[in-house]
Amino acid sequence: MKKIIIAVDGHSSCGKSTMAKTLAAKIGYTYIDTGAMYRAVTLYALRRGFIKGSSIDEESLRREITQIRIAFGKDSDGFQYTILNGENVESEIRGMEVSENVSPISAIGFVREAMTAEQRRMGSGGAVIMDGRDIGTTVFPEAELKIFVTASDEIRAQRRYDELRQKGQDPDYDEVLKNIRERDYIDSHRAVSPLRKADDAIVLDNSQMTISEQDEWLMNRYIKAASEE
Ligand code: C5P
Repeated sequence: MKKIIIAVDGHSSCGKSTMAKTLAAKIGYTYIDTGAMYRAVTLYALRRGFIKGSSIDEESLRREITQIRIAFGKDSDGFQYTILNGENVESEIRGMEVSENVSPISAIGFVREAMTAEQRRMGSGGAVIMDGRDIGTTVFPEAELKIFVTASDEIRAQRRYDELRQKGQDPDYDEVLKNIRERDYIDSHRAVSPLRKADDAIVLDNSQMTISEQDEWLMNRYIKAASEE
């Protein structure tokens, strides 16, 4: 079968990364979580004091953007984690503080340029599955398979809430729902690479699907795309 690029885009907390990771493990592809990269930049900006309330010191961030090194590691159970300048920041980037600030940071043009360049480099060898918001439209418009995932706001908030609780955090459901809606709004309305379905993407609304149904659906799409001449 052909080695292809698979782009999985969609709204916040719709289960993109779960299905992308599962498929990658089954077919031996590299999985790249581009949301984690924007989250790591946001954590960097927070730690450096570049985000104060709703204002961002873009000039300082621009000066330091090339000093932000993001990589992925795997623990002994095979779980992928995110590394920011040598430090495992996986649990910190999933917290509410980062979630509340990531969309404004991701709307900055030079941040997107830096991340897009890095993502293209990471995916240049092919056999890659990348999830995010602009993979099928901007990062890899030539991807052989593009999926656009969505689900109702409430279902997505419940899934995110359950996930945070499983990780030992104590989230507030209404806050999680509000955050998801705000991120979707900012992500879809920004000037640079807004979240939108690529014209040739296949839509998957997984509101009423189980995880195994989604996995099977994606596997079938992959087999079809990788078998095509
Ligand atoms: O995928 P995840 O929800 O972790 O992404 C966090 C945030 O990163 C999104 O809400 C969006 O603002 C930003 N993002 C982006 N482009 C991507 C991936 C994520 O702007 N390709």
